[in-house]
Amino acid sequence: MTSILETDPSAGAASAAGAPARTSAVDTAPRRPSLSPSRAADFKSCPLLYRFRTIDRLPERKSPAAVRGTLVHAVLERLYDLPAAERTVGAARALIEPAWAELREEPGVAELFPTAPTDGAAPTDGAAPTDGAADVPAGGTAADLEAWLASAGTLVETYFALEDPTRIQPHGREELVEVTLPDGLLLRGYVDRLDVAPSGALRVVDYKTGSVPRETFEAKALFQMKFYALVLWRTRGVIAAQLKLMYLGDGDVLTYAPDEAELRRFERTLLAIWAAIERAVATADFRPNKSRLCGWCDHQALCPAFGGTPPPFPVDAAAAAGWRTALPIAVAD
Ligand code: SF4
Repeated sequence: MTSILETDPSAGAASAAGAPARTSAVDTAPRRPSLSPSRAADFKSCPLLYRFRTIDRLPERKSPAAVRGTLVHAVLERLYDLPAAERTVGAARALIEPAWAELREEPGVAELFPTAPTDGAAPTDGAAPTDGAADVPAGGTAADLEAWLASAGTLVETYFALEDPTRIQPHGREELVEVTLPDGLLLRGYVDRLDVAPSGALRVVDYKTGSVPRETFEAKALFQMKFYALVLWRTRGVIAAQLKLMYLGDGDVLTYAPDEAELRRFERTLLAIWAAIERAVATADFRPNKSRLCGWCDHQALCPAFGGTPPPFPVDAAAAAGWRTALPIAVAD
């Protein structure tokens, strides 16, 4: 695909040397409650899910599909560490194994494949699935790991059908973007890739390891991209020329060009969501909202919609994290 923001590789080599340092999430932990696209989406779909994830911070199981997404994102991020001419399919595939070796050290990841070898290598016997991008093996065996890694390779290879990475020099990868709006709301999130053309035009790129979604999920994906566009506009004073969603599951691309009026409306939407979150925190009133998403929710056992009882609202932890709550806080002796 030809884009207004694809750049001359020779220009890219120069900027690679001065590539912006990626920011560690630990270094930049929020100083106060903030809103990210995923947490805003949580609250919109189910306020109780938002509470469980953001305030109670209950643990959740990792899924093979989600971990594969993390793996593919890591590979595409590292691909751009290579000199432009070396960004080939083979080079990208070669990045999968070391990225997986690192990823499997994270809590809950190696347990997805409990009977697979522990040296980080997949067995080499057996045929790799040809349609592995769509299904995610989850049986936990060595063969499942092999198929899972092969499916990650298929997704990485699909990327090359959508873009020519030798012609792109990202301005940022996995870049933290954040801004405090005039009323004090802190917006923050991570952009998969940010491209800046010599003209100063911005392109925000997000990799999705699934297929192009149906309408409601497409709206959710665009919500995320508008969020990034708003933060970039408020921090740089430039409206992104293009929001680009790359669906590696089926090799499709959605692009979108926001305008100022739309971003202003979107900002008001975020402020309304945040006001609703603050009201819920102040009163510890987070209602469940049953939907198809409940099928993927790890917290059904604690959810009143499924006969469960949520734990007491963690008032002290919420206050310590900077939330304003009208509920009494325990005072230590
Ligand atoms: S099971 Fe459904 S309603 Fe309950 S917390 Fe999870 S998403 Fe919300």
